[in-house]
Amino acid sequence: MHREDLAPATLAVSSGRPARVPGGPLNAPITMASALVPGAASEYGRHGNPAWESFEEILGTLEGGRALAFSSGMAAATALFDLVPLHGVVVAPHGAYNGTLTQLRERARRKLIELRLVDISDTGSVVDAAHEAALVWIESPTNPGLELADVKAIAHGATAVGTAVAVDNTFATPLRQRPLDLGADFVIHSASKLLSGHSDVVLGAVVTNSDRAYRAIEARRTTMGAIPGALETWLAARGMRTLAVRLDRAEANARELTRRLEASPLVSRVRYPGFGTVVSFEIAAGPTAAQAMTEQSEVIIYATSLGGVESTWERRRRNPAEPTTVPDGLVRLSVGIEDVEDLWADLERTVSAVS
Ligand SMILES: *Cc1c(COP(=O)(O)O)cnc(C)c1O
Repeated sequence: MHREDLAPATLAVSSGRPARVPGGPLNAPITMASALVPGAASEYGRHGNPAWESFEEILGTLEGGRALAFSSGMAAATALFDLVPLHGVVVAPHGAYNGTLTQLRERARRKLIELRLVDISDTGSVVDAAHEAALVWIESPTNPGLELADVKAIAHGATAVGTAVAVDNTFATPLRQRPLDLGADFVIHSASKLLSGHSDVVLGAVVTNSDRAYRAIEARRTTMGAIPGALETWLAARGMRTLAVRLDRAEANARELTRRLEASPLVSRVRYPGFGTVVSFEIAAGPTAAQAMTEQSEVIIYATSLGGVESTWERRRRNPAEPTTVPDGLVRLSVGIEDVEDLWADLERTVSAVS
């Protein structure tokens, strides 16, 4: 049986395991070591640790490339931005994750790069902006606006003019979108979200199918030192074993909640891209009421971040760093794997209470 024939749900379970030897463990152990016996690729824990390999192999297999784990999603993004030549142009969505935009804006302010912000759902303008650029950064769906990019068309257009393409695939996961297959050069993940899936890990990754790029990014990781912890990669690898079932269940919940929210007269706008586990919506009663609503829920937890088994929500603009392009009242709901009737009852009760 060839591994390429296996479905993603199977690969998530079967890849990244140690060789099957009598008495050996089924799962890779957590290797707590700063120094390793010389003679292999790494002899120091910043250069490489066997503890990272299981996570990297599972993610690389699912994305169709080779993965490098980093200490956070932002550390992974930073490693890539560091490869942009001085004064190089970076094209990015104006609706991207606020941490990404903050970093790109800071680099632009320091004149390290030139930043071109685009509407990522307008393929023509993204491809136009890619001319004489070093990097097109795609996020799809975007956080928290849930806009979609045509990754294939943008990658085609950007590649034709020699511009590299990176996709932040945090919201879609490789089970819903495989950017390398669509022509992108890099995939970036915040593994803190759906990949690890239990809101107990901060971790990131870059995936590429170019050996040259892999070596360059690995060298960045070694030099800059934004390496993952052994426990974090172990937890994320364990989380990815159940990614397919968690995603299916949370996505089914998200679809159902979207349907009911759209039918509610108390809700003014619902955004859901048709897949994934995040729903963003606004209520007719306005931003102050939306804030109160999120603080009153019982099943849904009032908290930031997303992609865990537990449902969480927050009004994004309560964070002063959130771009003003995000509506003041927008609530980002990360749907978990609870019973959908319990989630709806909580939602209906809280939205009614503040309306
Ligand atoms: C959370 C997030 C990040 C940042 O990842 P960290 O692991 O928090 O550093 C980047 N992109 C998206 C889309 C995110 O949701």
